[in-house]
Amino acid sequence: MERVTGESIPAGIDLSVIEKAIASGFPLLKFPRQLETAFEEEVEAGRCRQLALGGLFGILLYDLFLIPDWMTSPETFVTAVWVRLGIVTPIGLLMIASLYLRPPVALREFMVATGGAVLGAGSILYLMLVSRSMDQDALHQSIILIILFVTMVQRVRFWWAVAACLACLIMHAVGLRMLPSYAFEFQVSANTVFACAVVLTLFASYVLERETRMNYLLALKGRLQRRDLDAKTRRDPLTGLRNRRSLDEAIEMCDRAELIGSELAVILLDIDHFKAFNDTAGHQAGDVCLKRVAGIIQSELRDYADDVFRFGGEEFIVLLRGIGLPTAIRIAERIRRAVEDASIPHPALRRDEVVTVSMGVASAVIGREIRVGLVISAADAALYSAKGNGRNQVAPRLGPTEIIETMERKLLA
Ligand code: GH3
Ligand code: MG
Ligand code: MG
Repeated sequence: MERVTGESIPAGIDLSVIEKAIASGFPLLKFPRQLETAFEEEVEAGRCRQLALGGLFGILLYDLFLIPDWMTSPETFVTAVWVRLGIVTPIGLLMIASLYLRPPVALREFMVATGGAVLGAGSILYLMLVSRSMDQDALHQSIILIILFVTMVQRVRFWWAVAACLACLIMHAVGLRMLPSYAFEFQVSANTVFACAVVLTLFASYVLERETRMNYLLALKGRLQRRDLDAKTRRDPLTGLRNRRSLDEAIEMCDRAELIGSELAVILLDIDHFKAFNDTAGHQAGDVCLKRVAGIIQSELRDYADDVFRFGGEEFIVLLRGIGLPTAIRIAERIRRAVEDASIPHPALRRDEVVTVSMGVASAVIGREIRVGLVISAADAALYSAKGNGRNQVAPRLGPTEIIETMERKLLA
């Protein structure tokens, strides 16, 4: 069985690509390019392992036929030993060894198809030709076993199986023709039986590969849906920001031993007079305002390093990794100004007054005694003082030296 590894989703593949492939039914046993590459990459390790094991098993059975060779045709037994043990077996083992180098898909399938069908069936026909025995039924029947082995055990990809089977069919017809002991009528019936065996096994090969491919698509679809669902449970549906659950996970990550020793800044943001906004303009208008503020906060942060969460109600929390207090205060001030500049009218305040936010900032080097929860509490206390000092502000404020530093940096920029 071709096993798929991991839970990751191959890059560039989404639900619509998978659903389209499922709906198409891929009658030619080929996915669109990106999906085909992903499929082959994911099954590669399992397939090489399966081919190597199957190959060893096949070689063992093939060599066991030395017993009937010896019993039915002892005078050509040495030739049989040479062909089976001296030529076919080493080539087969070499092919198996090369699977560990992970050859490209086409080369791999070509190798298994030719190794199994052409080399296996060809060598048996050759032994039938050189043998002086009249009783060659066992050898003859074993050619069908080769076809079964290639298509059903090794499960060579369907189109390669077609090529291998056609080659065997031709070799079989030509081989029988060259055997003096086979009457024409017998050749016709033997070729007919062989052709039927080929058609039946190719039919089974097609169905099997289609099933393997379909199972892959369904498993991939399941993985993708699980990932989306997982992402949804970590998002706040109103603002699209990460939710409390996601915050708890982020805090846990920061508190882990490996992150101890790194600096973390926390900004707690609360919309001013939001209850009055809701009471005057209604809950729906309040929701629109929440969404706008959430969008503004996010647009002021670095996508890759900063995390913003909806903390609850009209409160948001920002985690800034590797950032000290002065920088965090500057970032908070930037957000405060951006919200103010958005000029969202506040229906409960004076005509020209707009929606504003207050923020509390704290920062610390996370250690065994200083956990993220403690930094959040400090930011909460700072937010309380920002509210108490008149709202629409960041607390604590930057000290005089830090303000000078900022101005110098601006002048230099
Ligand atoms: P302060 O300036 O002191 O922060 O005053 P406030 O009115 O903003 O503070 P308070 O905590 O009293 O009010 C928060 C309000 O936020 C209460 C509630 O109506 C509103 N709220 C909480 N969650 C939601 C939400 O999901 N949608 C809307 N529209 N409003 C919400
Ligand atoms: Mg509040
Ligand atoms: Mg508020």
